Amino acid sequence: MQIRRLKLSGFKSFVEPAELRIEPGLTGVVGPNGCGKSNLLEAIRWVMGENSPKSMRSGGMEDVIFAGTAQRPPRDFAEVVLHATDDSGEDMEVTRRIERGAGSAYRVNGKDVRAKDVALAFADAATGAHSPALVSQGKIAQVIAAKPTERRQMLEEAAGIAGLHVRRRDAESKLRSTEKNLERLEDIMSGLD
Ligand code: ATP
Repeated sequence: MQIRRLKLSGFKSFVEPAELRIEPGLTGVVGPNGCGKSNLLEAIRWVMGENSPKSMRSGGMEDVIFAGTAQRPPRDFAEVVLHATDDSGEDMEVTRRIERGAGSAYRVNGKDVRAKDVALAFADAATGAHSPALVSQGKIAQVIAAKPTERRQMLEEAAGIAGLHVRRRDAESKLRSTEKNLERLEDIMSGLD
């Protein structure tokens, strides 16, 4: 998958709508301290379904909305749009929007979808909010210090098999509820004898 464009509006320090083109190959973000380099990477993670406020350096998810400055009032919403092309050449536009008091909503190519659908689509394409392709500050040191189980997770994400774990858990939970239904049915049937 190739990320082609990123559009931000009201996301953290990006109060004005901003659009970035991302060319093929390795992209580095450089700039003075506090200019928003990490916020950009967080915007990519966020639109891919990141839901841990800690990894967004926030107290709660609404903290990603522009909080205002002495000169500018806060915003009521934040929106990030990511354009990508998958390996078969299909274009995909993913939008995540959060409004104060209303939570997050996702769209893929204009259609409303669940957070889980977005996370799975990226996981299957060997990318996503925890993708090793997104290298933030301190990440290299973290990889060196990682435990073998954590390294395995990184490898699974790079190999595009992370989505299989989610599907396996879903299938296991469906199996458990079907087994419970069968047990109930047997109880009812034995009561009818
Ligand atoms: P460094 O090089 O120091 O790591 P950086 O370029 O990665 O900095 P970021 O950490 O991305 O910079 O951006 C920090 C800036 O974003 C700070 O000025 C902070 O006030 C601003 N910021 C973060 N969240 C919000 C928000 N919700 N509303 C407004 N501004 C925000």
